[in-house]
Amino acid sequence: MTAIFWFRRDRRLQDNQALNRAAEESLPLLPVFVFPENLGSLTPLRQHSLIESAKALSSSLPRGLHCEVGKAATVLTSLAKELSVSKVLATKAFDTDGIAEQLAVEAALGDLGIQLELVGSYYAVQPGTVRKDDQSPVRVYTPFYRRWSEQSVEPPYSLDVKSVNWLSPTAASAVPSLTSAAPYQVIAGEEFALSTLQRFLKDRVFSYSEDRNRPDKNGTSKLSHALAHGEIHPRTLLNGLGAAPGQEVFRKEIAWREFYADVLFHNPRTVNDYYEPRFANMRYDSPVEFSEKLLAWKTGQTGYPIVDAAMRQLVQTGWMHNRTRMIVASFLVKDLHFEWQLGAQFFEEHLTDFDPASNAHGWQWTAGCGTDASPYYRVFNPVLQGIKFDPNGHYVNRWVPELSHLDKTSIHEPWNDISGYQHGYPPPIVDHGQERLEALARLEELKG
Ligand SMILES: Cc1cc2nc3c(=O)[nH]c(=O)nc-3n(C[C@H](O)[C@H](O)[C@H](O)COP(=O)(O)OP(=O)(O)OC[C@H]3O[C@@H](n4cnc5c(N)ncnc54)[C@H](O)[C@@H]3O)c2cc1C
Repeated sequence: MTAIFWFRRDRRLQDNQALNRAAEESLPLLPVFVFPENLGSLTPLRQHSLIESAKALSSSLPRGLHCEVGKAATVLTSLAKELSVSKVLATKAFDTDGIAEQLAVEAALGDLGIQLELVGSYYAVQPGTVRKDDQSPVRVYTPFYRRWSEQSVEPPYSLDVKSVNWLSPTAASAVPSLTSAAPYQVIAGEEFALSTLQRFLKDRVFSYSEDRNRPDKNGTSKLSHALAHGEIHPRTLLNGLGAAPGQEVFRKEIAWREFYADVLFHNPRTVNDYYEPRFANMRYDSPVEFSEKLLAWKTGQTGYPIVDAAMRQLVQTGWMHNRTRMIVASFLVKDLHFEWQLGAQFFEEHLTDFDPASNAHGWQWTAGCGTDASPYYRVFNPVLQGIKFDPNGHYVNRWVPELSHLDKTSIHEPWNDISGYQHGYPPPIVDHGQERLEALARLEELKG
């Protein structure tokens, strides 16, 4: 008899609770990763980042990783039949699509009399665990954080990789190739994630409280990619933290990820539907009728420097700073009056750290229709945000070369400089002051 370990968003060998559980079976174990069927429709950068993550995992396994593209249920049942598998083990997902996928796998394997054992989660505290005294879910971040902090988190799991009887991939195994070249070489994998964490703890965590809001600085951990791919587990992150100021703030950010996973688990429809349903009835603009505005937002041509810098950073690198994620999200919903899902979809297409819970609820929080929502009437002013969080204009300078001739006093307001438009930068596509009033008027309509 043999077993399969189905790697999902947990592509690492250490601190992998489900993998440790699989090792305890003491059966020959085939490590498997199934690339999604829609891989070819992702941007080259997203395809590349996923492929590199799987390749890094494969090279850390003594006999490599079995890779196929397709539906997990189809791939796993076919392997199970071929290899006389008695059991499939995997990490349990708590997001909407992950749950649907594991139910399909469970049913397909069940037809063959094979058990799917789901263990652990992608979180330090399993979604659904933190509750109010009356056992209902906690809907607001601050009390969630308090109760989440009271949970005991196990120390990181460790595995003697050589003690496992790994099986070699079968002839069907193949790593897919890119549909077109990625713009740059992504570095992925568990080893890189751990060294990124070490560098962050050594050099940057101490100034994290001040620097984390500054897109012009390299002040955050850049661990979101590794967390999204499961190349590191939040247990490992938390285990390295103490009580020093930056470390506490960092812990709170990790808790936002855990909070949104919990919220999505309790409200699975909110992956693409309104957390506050009344906002579905708001008057929004049609992306067909106003397609040029949507295109300007996507391509970084809105005429608002911080918005355009951020959107270009996203498209060119697959990552965007948290502060500017909020700014561009507010701009799409409240200055351009589009539904948040259009932006979330674009982020999903481009973010190499795409995470269904953090993306859907990061968008809804900014759009004012999510959990402990920053209220809808709080509209980010893209000029003031730029001046405050990119005070020297370095961020805009880096991503919007048409403005790099301007100094810090005019780079966020090129319309104030006689030469502001000399290199072809577009004037604003909307007037922020007017659109803010329009957004507030639509809110009043909704209140009826
Ligand atoms: C509109 C919008 C969409 C977003 N979409 C995603 C997404 O698809 N994937 C994703 O991982 N994050 C998302 N975020 C959250 C946040 O922007 C990123 O996690 C962060 O920018 C990643 O950079 P970092 O690892 O350097 O963060 P750090 O500041 O170093 O934070 C460490 C970790 O804490 C978590 N974290 C930090 N801030 C948040 C937050 N506001 N919400 C949830 N988790 C957080 C992340 O896992 C992050 O890696 C979104 C935020 C917004 C406003």
